[in-house]
Amino acid sequence: MTSREIRSQFLEFFTSKSHAIVPSAPMVVKDDPTLMFTNAGMNQFKEYFLGNKAVKESRISDTQKCLRVSGKHNDLEEVGMDTYHHTMFEMLGNWSFGDYFKKEAIEWAWELLTEVYKIDTSILYVTIFEGDASEDLARDTEAYELWKQFVPEDRIINGNKKDNFWEMGEQGPCGPCSEIHVDIRSAEEKAKVSGASLVNQDHPQVVEIWNLVFMQFNRKANGSLEKLPSQHVDTGMGFERLCMVLQNKQSNYDTDVFTPLIREIEAVTNSKYGKDEKIDIAIRVISDHVRAVAFSIADGQLPSNTGAGYVIRRILRRAIRYGFTFLDTKEPFIYKLVATLSKQMGDAFPELISEKNLITNVIKEEENSFLRTLDQGLVLLENIIESADSKTISGKKAFELYDTFGFPIDLTALILRERGYELDQAGFEKELQKQKDRSRAATKVATGDWEVLFDDAEEEFVGYDTLETTIKISRYRKV
Ligand code: ATP
Ligand code: MG
Ligand code: MG
Ligand code: MG
Repeated sequence: MTSREIRSQFLEFFTSKSHAIVPSAPMVVKDDPTLMFTNAGMNQFKEYFLGNKAVKESRISDTQKCLRVSGKHNDLEEVGMDTYHHTMFEMLGNWSFGDYFKKEAIEWAWELLTEVYKIDTSILYVTIFEGDASEDLARDTEAYELWKQFVPEDRIINGNKKDNFWEMGEQGPCGPCSEIHVDIRSAEEKAKVSGASLVNQDHPQVVEIWNLVFMQFNRKANGSLEKLPSQHVDTGMGFERLCMVLQNKQSNYDTDVFTPLIREIEAVTNSKYGKDEKIDIAIRVISDHVRAVAFSIADGQLPSNTGAGYVIRRILRRAIRYGFTFLDTKEPFIYKLVATLSKQMGDAFPELISEKNLITNVIKEEENSFLRTLDQGLVLLENIIESADSKTISGKKAFELYDTFGFPIDLTALILRERGYELDQAGFEKELQKQKDRSRAATKVATGDWEVLFDDAEEEFVGYDTLETTIKISRYRKV
């Protein structure tokens, strides 16, 4: 089954259960100061759940473009390292606003997975909320009894508050959730350890695919819970993970959502996927990031130096660096992938076709300018190495290179290591902290939500651009 068919069968199934199909909301959020990017299907319905907006349709279904690179959901560090977390992904969902509740949500999820998609029931596990004594929250026996109609008891797993109790925020709607996981390990691996013990353990072949949230409480400002006057269902299923299962693959990147992009990366960079782990990670990162960037630009969000645009620029630069470092790409090439992407996904997301030229040109321009930065930085770094009087390069010099010329610190560290030099990492951190203090003092002068948001984004992104990526580079070394 192709990914196209998988997507349309989902929507057809919920149409047959009287759901109205709505378009995906934009991935880049413009009207909510607390959120930069859509990170779940329910975001666009938040006002319904809060009771601030009247519900027109009580049953809705869609596929939502999501991006998880900031705030509560930041999967950036996982991307490329594992095979099932993306920055940008599609979340298939169905909702009930005060209409059906647990019974239908569970029965339909099971019907879709096992009768329409025909997933072998023996690879499925489900989780239910185990309860929490500290809040006087009961175990979700209702969900347990409903699952018991289909699933043997040893494959219904109790889950804690972290995995099985969803909250919109510090206040507002919340409730237990029940998740569906797949065990796609080989028979040999299955014989060694039971899949039940691997659920929610970040095992690459025992993976969560669908989250069914049952909103039945409201958390009040004082922290206490009250029953909601009407109950809602909010579900989210990872489309790329579903494709992995239905196409009998072990990795999202081996499904037809990604293979056309990967083949194109191999062709334009003259590399091969599946032979060397470092190269594979780079190819996965690039095929992931081009989607995030292309969808953002299609939403009208260009790379820039502030807010969401800054986040997008950092994601694109990250892809450029992975290419530069591991695929030896010294010329722009990511823009060439846009044609393949819009061909692959343009029918579901026509903005990729209508904005194709803009996306291509913007990415090419960004690549050109960042590659120039990298070139200049390499020359400057060479000068620093030549004039060094010890094998340790000062954090201050590395910071100058980073701050004034935009040269990534992890690349500095990597090159130095390769040349037998060391970076004074602590010295670098000190300079970075000084700069943060300066910019914090500067933003205090300005007022308004946007400054706050930008400050947060910058902190997060400066964070990964220095420390986290350095950790990653050292992880490559071990392979
Ligand atoms: P995980 O535990 O795997 O990180 P999650 O519990 O954070 O997933 P939810 O917030 O429950 O995910 O989102 C609903 C569904 O969206 C998940 O069951 C999963 O299939 C999918 N999903 C979540 N994060 C990602 C991601 N980064 N890339 C691809 N799919 C994802
Ligand atoms: Mg997660
Ligand atoms: Mg989870
Ligand atoms: Mg989940």
